[in-house]
Amino acid sequence: MVLKDQIAIVTGGARGIGREIALAFAKAGADIALFDVNEQLLQGTVAELRGLGRRAEGYVVDVTNSAQVDEAVGKALDKLGRIDILINNAGITKDGLIIRMDDAQWDRVLTINLKGTFLCTRAVAKPMMKQRRGKIVNIASIVGIIGNAGQANYSASKAGVIGLTKTTAKELAGRNITCNAIAPGFIKTEMTDALPEGAKQKLLEAIPMGSLGEPKDVAEAALFLVSEAARYVTGHVLVVDGGLAM
Ligand code: NAP
Repeated sequence: MVLKDQIAIVTGGARGIGREIALAFAKAGADIALFDVNEQLLQGTVAELRGLGRRAEGYVVDVTNSAQVDEAVGKALDKLGRIDILINNAGITKDGLIIRMDDAQWDRVLTINLKGTFLCTRAVAKPMMKQRRGKIVNIASIVGIIGNAGQANYSASKAGVIGLTKTTAKELAGRNITCNAIAPGFIKTEMTDALPEGAKQKLLEAIPMGSLGEPKDVAEAALFLVSEAARYVTGHVLVVDGGLAM
């Protein structure tokens, strides 16, 4: 039980990678607050977490709305007592080539993926600084490092998340708060299910390990980064991609 009685917020935690991280943390002994826009899925995942014998609360929060974020962090603090861990996982894609990408497509992806990460980090920073302890993990992407045709908005947002991770790490290190990023490659979720079959086949050929990753692969990396085993690790970007970006 490496996270025994710790309290974690997971954004975008109703499904996909966020759900898997929340389940892994609960199995490791943590209590969980989930932030997500999808109320029905949110309540389903909260029920799963409670089924593991942990305290779990679900909050309908759009991470782009600072008032909602601040209010939900306050409620989670009141209900669960502390916030030890924040996983900034909520994210979307709206792909298209640069010459066809409209302003709204650019703004929406940058606002959710990058501003949302900033707003949630800012909201937990004060309570974490007060308690002189905290772990923040931002879910970036390998395309924030290597780029990807058709994902100008997404790759820019994830490169931004990596810069934000390093600044957060530098600003908060003195208060015993670490901040790291995970850069997943292609992981089997509804986000990648949407890829055309031909594109998936090409991807598989480019991945040395020959398969897409599982949400569990990202969850295990997150578990390491928030555990005592990673006490001295901060400002790091942990790539979880089957060798794609070597
Ligand atoms: P997913 O299955 O689409 O799950 C994302 C969750 O975030 C959904 O429940 C979604 O709600 C929620 N969400 C979207 N916008 C939100 C907002 N404004 N506020 C709060 N919650 C919001 O995605 P995933 O594949 O698990 O990806 C999770 C993270 O990993 C993302 O940051 C993604 O960029 C990153 N990532 C994924 C892959 C991959 O291959 N899957 C690779 C690299 C990085 P809805 O139900 O409304 O969509």
